[in-house]
Amino acid sequence: MSTIDTCDIKSMTIAELETFMGELGEPKFRAKQIFQWLHDKRVLSFDEMKNLPAGLREKLKTTCTITAFTIERKLVSAIDGTIKYLYRLADGEYVESVLMRYEHGISVCVSTQVGCKMGCSFCASTKAGFVRHLTPSEILEQVYAPARDTGERVDSLVLMGIGEPLDNYDNVLRFLTLVSAPEGLCMSHRHISLSTCGLVDKIYELADLNLQITLSVSLHASNDRVRDEIMPVNHRYKIPELMKACRYYTDKTHRRISYEYSLIKGVNDNAAQAKELAALLHGMLCHVNLIPVNYVEEAGFEKSGRQQIYAFQKVLQDHGINATIRRTLGADINAACGQLRRQAVKG
Ligand code: SAH
Repeated sequence: MSTIDTCDIKSMTIAELETFMGELGEPKFRAKQIFQWLHDKRVLSFDEMKNLPAGLREKLKTTCTITAFTIERKLVSAIDGTIKYLYRLADGEYVESVLMRYEHGISVCVSTQVGCKMGCSFCASTKAGFVRHLTPSEILEQVYAPARDTGERVDSLVLMGIGEPLDNYDNVLRFLTLVSAPEGLCMSHRHISLSTCGLVDKIYELADLNLQITLSVSLHASNDRVRDEIMPVNHRYKIPELMKACRYYTDKTHRRISYEYSLIKGVNDNAAQAKELAALLHGMLCHVNLIPVNYVEEAGFEKSGRQQIYAFQKVLQDHGINATIRRTLGADINAACGQLRRQAVKG
């Protein structure tokens, strides 16, 4: 509980709620009831918790808050039904999440921080700097608010919005516990992907937990020279060190790692680099996700051309590396991460 406010009741596990009930002189079984109201029925006020005695509801009102997002802006794609949400947080900050429709169901992309410290040169989320970590309940609300809004079931989650999840490690782990709790949304870890720019020490820690989540590693370069240029994190952890941590992760969890590779014209997209990438990933349980880079004003990078992207994919495939090209969703609503929050902050 060190990183969160004890009054933030939606960030508490059932075990913590049990302790809390003890402190309030209430029976232990109330903990599960409260958890179900918050995470299964997803009510927004204590008054809706009908099976709690009025006295307990009053005590909760004076000691706790329920994190509940109101939607500040909502953009719906006319092309594919993607919905982008902007929420205003209690302290006036903004956060965004995106609901995407796939054949296999609905997926929500959530943010883990307000802003980001990582400084990747092609990424909009980092340009205005880092403000603060999101609490577990603020990450959860990015899933619950779209579910409330659309009335639809969320089938999978990706932690690929604004922020570096492994830089907010404790809150993200708590989020993973809460979102998969059988008494709540009960989302299987197998339906959750976590994307990291490669914080090596945390990859080791995560591996030792042996969770069944999918780890996505934002690689974006086949050698240290290029990665140093576009991702400052590479000054801290070089590619060989990162790959060693990834191998450890797969050995421990037996899960396939997905490597994100945004193709930037003239920077990381030639055939020699594709070969170098294939050599780097040779023999690993992996998948490469090729993404035409999204244009970000300050970055000035351009997408690689279609031919170049297909040629890059072919080199990987010819070397036995599984590689797909990511489909663009929500093209008409600028669904790339960080864009809505930036507009809101700029005013
Ligand atoms: N911090 C985490 C997760 C957030 S970004 C990470 O680095 O993985 C989610 C993914 O989008 C990452 O792979 C990131 O590198 C990529 N990304 C960011 N800006 C992009 C852009 N302009 N075009 C394409 N991909 C981008």
